[in-house]
Amino acid sequence: MPLHKEKSRLDVPLNQRDYLKSHPKSPTINRVFELSLTYIQRADEAHKRGQKVYYGGGVYDSPILHANDAFPCVYNELGRLAGDDSVALAEEHFQIPNETCSMVKATMGELLRRKNSFKGLIAYCSLCEPYNTAFEVLKEEGYDVYSVDLPYRAAGVNDARFESLVDFSEKELTGLAEWIGGGRVDEERLAEEIRRTNLIHAKVRRLLDLQVANPDYIGTLETMFIWNGANHHYGAPEEYEDILDQLIAELEEVSAIERKIDRVPIVWCGGRGQEFGIYKLLDDLGGYISKWTMAGRLLRDYDESLPPLRAIAYNNVLGMGGPGGAKDQIPFLEQSLEDTKSRGIIFYGYFGCSFTSVNFEVIKNHFAHKGTPSLVLDGSFQIGDPSGQNVTRLKAFMEMVTNG
Ligand code: SF4
Repeated sequence: MPLHKEKSRLDVPLNQRDYLKSHPKSPTINRVFELSLTYIQRADEAHKRGQKVYYGGGVYDSPILHANDAFPCVYNELGRLAGDDSVALAEEHFQIPNETCSMVKATMGELLRRKNSFKGLIAYCSLCEPYNTAFEVLKEEGYDVYSVDLPYRAAGVNDARFESLVDFSEKELTGLAEWIGGGRVDEERLAEEIRRTNLIHAKVRRLLDLQVANPDYIGTLETMFIWNGANHHYGAPEEYEDILDQLIAELEEVSAIERKIDRVPIVWCGGRGQEFGIYKLLDDLGGYISKWTMAGRLLRDYDESLPPLRAIAYNNVLGMGGPGGAKDQIPFLEQSLEDTKSRGIIFYGYFGCSFTSVNFEVIKNHFAHKGTPSLVLDGSFQIGDPSGQNVTRLKAFMEMVTNG
């Protein structure tokens, strides 16, 4: 019986943490959930014992932080497991309109609560406009915000322009590395972290391939929490890597037994949200995610032949992180659909996010012309059972792609 059904029957209000409960087939999945559920608490403990801790984006900054023995506390993860009281607090304290993206509000509420703890926060102008505004406002609450100006690459830039964008990014990232390292950059340590991240990426990719080949063994939500740590490793790289090794071993064992896959492959595009019941529902409806398009972008390896900050800058200009634009996503989605023989695409965006709504519109139209079914789900801060509207739409979509 899926967890959300069990709980509903008992009439106990759910929150998103309730979905991160024991996994019947793989005990290793419990370790992944444990790593996620203790993440913020471990950041606080690190701060208390004198380790440097920074709120960050969890992609470009993670190797830099690890190379300085600092703990990366990713603000998206802070928001992902926040309670709806954090959203209410942010709305009330900052007078944020109801229609603003709930991820931003949840993060702001949490940071407001936590303003007496560690203060260093890394902001990226390329992340999104509401977050940029939030970080400006959070300065007033005592946060020490370091802003990194990373560019977006327009379509069709020539080689010289591309290199100048990489130069600019490298300069910005050097400023960040110096801010964290007290004025110095330890290139050797950073190169080591880049190598380790590439190694971890390779393991995550292997694991995702095995999971797609055995979609009954690890559920969709579980898979999302595994790859989610590919760059920040939930602040515990050794433990995270050990979990990956263990899961790969488990799945290799499962793969040895031949079985028929009856599940329907679907490509996921966009955010991950807090609405964990959606992932459970997808599994219950006989689907599975054959490709996480953000994961594909976030798992891009660093070029180890480049100086480490140049390698990070290069991946940024290629479009490694951030929400990404249609120009980058369409070819990736097309390839993903072809490789996995998926029956459709689910776009998950947040209510109030102007960026994703426009982006999804462009991509959705592109695929509609090609006859590929797709579904847009609007996420709000829905932390219990999934919203009725999303449930109805997902059921109808799955019925169409399963029987169509
Ligand atoms: S969903 Fe949109 S508004 Fe919300 S954090 Fe992401 S990019 Fe920003």
